[in-house]
Amino acid sequence: MKRFFMSLAGVLVLLLGVLVFNAVRFSAPSKPSAPSYAIAVAPDADELAQQLSEAIQFQTLSQENGNADDNEAFNDFTAWLEHTYPKVFTTLSVQRFNQHTLLLHWQGTASTAPVLFSAHYDVVPVNPGTEQNWQHPPFAGTIADGMIWGRGALDDKGTVVALMASVNALLAQNFTPTNDIYIAFTHDEELGSELGSQAVMTYFKENGINLAWSLDEGSFVLRGIAPGVDKDIASINVTEKGFLNLKLTASAAGGHSSMPPEDTAVTLLANALVKLHNAPLPGSLEGVSKQMYSNIARHMDFPKRFLFANMWLFKPLLNNFLASSPSGNAMLRTTTAPTMLSGSVKANVLPATATATVNFRLHPRDTIDDVIAWVKNAIDDDRIKIEPLEAFEAANVAPSDTKGFADLSEAAGAIYSDTIITPGITIAATDSRFYSQITNAYRFTPMVITLSDVDSIHGTNEKVSIDNMINAVRFYSAVMQRQ
Ligand SMILES: [Zn+2]
Repeated sequence: MKRFFMSLAGVLVLLLGVLVFNAVRFSAPSKPSAPSYAIAVAPDADELAQQLSEAIQFQTLSQENGNADDNEAFNDFTAWLEHTYPKVFTTLSVQRFNQHTLLLHWQGTASTAPVLFSAHYDVVPVNPGTEQNWQHPPFAGTIADGMIWGRGALDDKGTVVALMASVNALLAQNFTPTNDIYIAFTHDEELGSELGSQAVMTYFKENGINLAWSLDEGSFVLRGIAPGVDKDIASINVTEKGFLNLKLTASAAGGHSSMPPEDTAVTLLANALVKLHNAPLPGSLEGVSKQMYSNIARHMDFPKRFLFANMWLFKPLLNNFLASSPSGNAMLRTTTAPTMLSGSVKANVLPATATATVNFRLHPRDTIDDVIAWVKNAIDDDRIKIEPLEAFEAANVAPSDTKGFADLSEAAGAIYSDTIITPGITIAATDSRFYSQITNAYRFTPMVITLSDVDSIHGTNEKVSIDNMINAVRFYSAVMQRQ
């Protein structure tokens, strides 16, 4: 018996040794020996700020009823682009899709691996009643405190201007790319991209143009956003979550509420929602999530590194830890969010039907059919009708071992040194949900943002620093130079 405990202790000491060894080895990789980027473009800060200021002043608002062909702001904005960057518009060829979306084509000398840069210039309206909370009016394009203020500064006119300024600067240096470069400016991203990026994607598909990759919004250089990490994180996202609205309808006898039956439409529906709440879709550290957290965790303190380095042992613990925060949970699984409810229209009337809308954001591990099957199984009640409404699948996952990903991550590393660079997942939907159907779609805006910047997108006081604009031009021009 004693010998048994001796050998058990020996095994435990050995195990602890292995765990510590793993954790010590699990540290930040030394700088890759990749060729460093020569950043050839030095943008003029005042000129760049002025251009974005002007761009913000066009109220290119995406309204729920669509963006009409004769929408003055949209037509004026594209006319302003032509006027502001004449050399770009005379050197590159330009096509329009559905009136307002532009696709510029920069012919390369060999054109074996064309690439696409994309940004949208439609913006969301300012929430009524919040105008007075803006430090500078949302459509004035005020330049103050080293910032350009206004709706669209981060989402996504800053990128439109940075892309134009990059091409402009490269043309001034008489640069011609080897591979074709396409640049799309879309006009209905905030409405779901059914006209803009979908048409651009269809054009490439129908003309047999095989893009090596596309680059669009969907992530930034994140500062102070990941808990437990001091460094900035440049998350170059390789996929984005899908979307599904399910309508649940419970039916029962209606009537006066003075003599209710045991089950009413409302209680049946409530019961179904509680069952759904108690049955979250499965999720765990795997695929892109695992890759992302592994890259980030290498820069955490020793106790956390110890856990992440020994994922084979601590995975259940880490899954629970990550799932305990809404943002961590969204990285691991398809999320379930009941959003709309309706029942009787009068306090003393039992409804014949009660309905709920539940919004799911699909993790790439699940398909729409998987989620519907899961919900049916979880509710397990024939009295609840389950109908899908709007839905699209999660995007294909683009590989991160490509030349395209290397081009982007090396440029990010050259401009933002001492930054963690990792593949990641975009939680919202972007134009890339269409691009990802035909190519390796990457999502990254080369600008540093903080939590308050994140809140300003679609919120109040949206603004971008002039430094961010300069770095964006340095980034895009450097990547373009490599094509
Ligand atoms: Zn956007």
